[in-house]
Amino acid sequence: MRWGGRANGRSFKAAQTGGPSGGCIPADHLDSPVDYENLTKLGSIMGSGGLVIIDDSTQMPDFARFFIDFCVDESCGKCLPCRVGTVQIRNKLDKMIAGKGTPDDLVQLEKLCQTVKTASLCGLGKSAPNPVLSTMNYFRHEYESLLDSSGSNDKK
Ligand code: SF4
Repeated sequence: MRWGGRANGRSFKAAQTGGPSGGCIPADHLDSPVDYENLTKLGSIMGSGGLVIIDDSTQMPDFARFFIDFCVDESCGKCLPCRVGTVQIRNKLDKMIAGKGTPDDLVQLEKLCQTVKTASLCGLGKSAPNPVLSTMNYFRHEYESLLDSSGSNDKK
């Protein structure tokens, strides 16, 4: 199976596979075969089989924030990395989207995502950071463009 086409007459930007904790795959990989191994290699998952098409009007940090918010609500709270980590990821994204993030926040966000991914007990926590990590991987410039370049937030 292969994917193609355009989204609402706008330019295709990315496809998110695997449901709320899936990863985003950019237009460069539009012709990639859709199977378990290939999606994993591209930083996403087969997951629930969900497929969301994203057009060029979407800002990826906003998109990732929407899905981490879902995972915060879905976390059962049993283990700390998922219970606290997903909230911290959302807080970091909120700070950055508000234009108050620093370069250090970007580094911390990535580390936080990796920690939640590796230390959570079950698949929900292990996959929750996928939307953030995959969009940081393929659309990092959108996160960097949110940072406060004045340095006035460095100590906050
Ligand atoms: S990773 Fe699983 S067990 Fe841990 S809090 Fe999240 S949903 Fe619960």
